[in-house]
Amino acid sequence: MHINGKTKTIGLIGCPVEHTLSPVIHNSLSSIFAQNMVYLPFHVEETQVEDAMKGAYGLGILGLNVTVPHKQHVMEYLVETDGAARAIGAVNTLVRTAGGYKGYNTDMEGLRHAVLSEGISLRDKTVVVLGAGGASKAVVYMCLLEGAGRIYLLNRTLSKAEEIAGDMNALVRDGLQAGFKAYREADTGEGGSPVVPMLIHDYAEIPEENLYVFQATSIGLAPNGDKAVIEDAAFYQKVAVGYDLVYNPAETKFMSLVKQGGGRAYNGLKMLLYQGVLAYSYWTGIPFSRLETVCDRIYAELFHGVHDLHNVILMGFMGSGKSTVGRALAKRLKYAFVDTDAYIEAKESMSVADIFSERGERCFRQMETDAIRELLKENRHTVFATGGGMPLRKENADLLNLLGETVYLQASAGEVYERLKGDTKRPLLQSENPMERIVELMGERQMLYEAAADYHICVDAKAVDVIVDEIIYKLDLES
Ligand code: NAP
Repeated sequence: MHINGKTKTIGLIGCPVEHTLSPVIHNSLSSIFAQNMVYLPFHVEETQVEDAMKGAYGLGILGLNVTVPHKQHVMEYLVETDGAARAIGAVNTLVRTAGGYKGYNTDMEGLRHAVLSEGISLRDKTVVVLGAGGASKAVVYMCLLEGAGRIYLLNRTLSKAEEIAGDMNALVRDGLQAGFKAYREADTGEGGSPVVPMLIHDYAEIPEENLYVFQATSIGLAPNGDKAVIEDAAFYQKVAVGYDLVYNPAETKFMSLVKQGGGRAYNGLKMLLYQGVLAYSYWTGIPFSRLETVCDRIYAELFHGVHDLHNVILMGFMGSGKSTVGRALAKRLKYAFVDTDAYIEAKESMSVADIFSERGERCFRQMETDAIRELLKENRHTVFATGGGMPLRKENADLLNLLGETVYLQASAGEVYERLKGDTKRPLLQSENPMERIVELMGERQMLYEAAADYHICVDAKAVDVIVDEIIYKLDLES
């Protein structure tokens, strides 16, 4: 990031803001889309919101995100508020206009994109929203926009659920939202009210099955990741889809209960991603459809940020030095070292060559996918040397990017031939003309390595220490 006299400022106000991941989203987008812009968190106490708003405008700040506890209070200081944000009663994004800031609620739209990106349709589904805090109104509104059927809103404090249900049912009845479907008597029961407030303890009274549940309480958030607001396995037998707004830990107790009951479960990291990307689109005018093309990359960075992974993944053709460089790099960084081929061999009690000949390449590729999923669960501060074919599957390439920062060790065909000639352990090179085979395989794989890796390093004629230095420098690691 190069800051100069023309750099524009965007940022976040909230209290606290010290653990925010939003700078990862916005500063990465500015870097990718070559915007001369910096995103900064500002800790603003509740008594200072008005001053902060005046100061931000006076300083020419282009836009702000707003987080707890200011999402409602800040609305007093805006010149305009978007219709959906007004209906939800909270804003999380402010855009500079002539005379002041306009407020939007991208939490709601972000959740909507996240849900749609998982292929979830809420149309006519029975929804349960757990929690009636600041976020749950956006959840209920999104469910109404997506045409959900009845929506049970469960909270520890019934009055809060009743208030939100009252506001949302009024919107539906008054037909204020052109985007809502026409609710039928079957969806709404008496009085045309699809949103039904309930005490959280009364969850067993919900008669429907095949529930779509949004977990919007603060229960389950790290470091209290071993709790869920409902722990009764019988409830989860009825859950088809569970979406937890919490994203740290990656698999919350709620999510594991949903999975144990046979349902699909998701965390809130994509919601966080999309609400940020939508805000960035408002600030810069870059269409969301363009920003969306880099969402996978930003998602991987967020994932690393949440899970404090600090892993380095080496990929590249066989013979490019992944294991040798990996061991040396791990030693310098004082990280653990894992060779994924060795990991699979130990797990299967079989050599890679035998797995290829007895079970076939397809089976081996599946073992690689399973291995990365397992490694994702428990590895921090680790250097991984991966098998040469690992990123051939798009799924594996995506998982490797979640596991850590990926480095492609790029060797020429001649270099690889010199290193591997006479090696009888490589199943893919057992041909009459290994050089021809290397050139052919490299032609197939090079673009995939390039697309899958964050960094590329040419390794021809370089000593191991030189390559290690280069990786440490490029990834800004400390040895
Ligand atoms: P909030 O306004 O503080 O509301 C907290 C909710 O949790 C309330 O419904 C509260 O019930 C309930 N709760 C707290 N402790 C409880 C307990 N011991 N037993 C039962 N219920 C309890 O928080 P929020 O802003 O709505 O956020 C809710 C969650 O969503 C947070 O974990 C937040 O991190 C997450 N979130 C994620 C994203 C994202 O981008 N992924 C965005 C926004 C929020 P009472 O009303 O009875 O106190």
